[in-house]
Amino acid sequence: MRQLGILGGMSWESTASYYRLLNQGVRERLGGLHSAPLLLHSVDFAEIAEMQRCGDWSAAAARLVDAALGLQQAGATALLLATNTMHKIAPALEAALDIPLLHIGDGVGQALQRQGVRRAALLGTRFTMQEDFYRQRLAERFAIDVIIPAPEQMAEVDRVIFAELCQGQFLQPAREFYLDCLRRLREQGAEVAILGCTEIGLLLDAADAPLPLLDSSEVHVTMGLEWLLSASGE
Ligand code: GLU
Repeated sequence: MRQLGILGGMSWESTASYYRLLNQGVRERLGGLHSAPLLLHSVDFAEIAEMQRCGDWSAAAARLVDAALGLQQAGATALLLATNTMHKIAPALEAALDIPLLHIGDGVGQALQRQGVRRAALLGTRFTMQEDFYRQRLAERFAIDVIIPAPEQMAEVDRVIFAELCQGQFLQPAREFYLDCLRRLREQGAEVAILGCTEIGLLLDAADAPLPLLDSSEVHVTMGLEWLLSASGE
């Protein structure tokens, strides 16, 4: 099997799920004692989150490029950047690496296209919801019309991610608030909700949701599994 690099810790709550799901996927496919050949670089998220908050994206890019080059050097044949938000600096990673970056937005776009979805709700950090790097990719490459919560709701969705989910708190008031957001977005014509933050799937249960959910972290893990299990012999 190929080796796969994971650049994670943003937050480790979801990186831990990536680790478990990648290993489970390999076991389901190959059986026995098989497990996923992985290399993990897990950062201190407090430092990265502070760079995000200050808008110092070039420092964040430099930090992550350094880490990604280390994974490449150690033998990773492709990279999963285990956060939606930090795909804002994906172009810097792609420019620096010789190995492919398995872009989370492409996985989400392809999954939506396969389902025939035209209009999707997006929940994530304020950066992911408001800025172009994620929505524009979905619009331009996959013809998805992305809708986001109203500004007040958006601020609360973002607050919950940093103050609760990334700190391991998955609480009922946040769950109810997110479900209310999804009800409103469904009324605006959303056919599916993109969980565009890797921790949201740890909060919400698809059975409670008013519309189908597409969990970006599950999609991303599937991309990783396809890479690991493809018969390249690398
Ligand atoms: N894990 C989150 C995401 O998927 C948020 C953490 C971050 O800001 O990187 O965007």
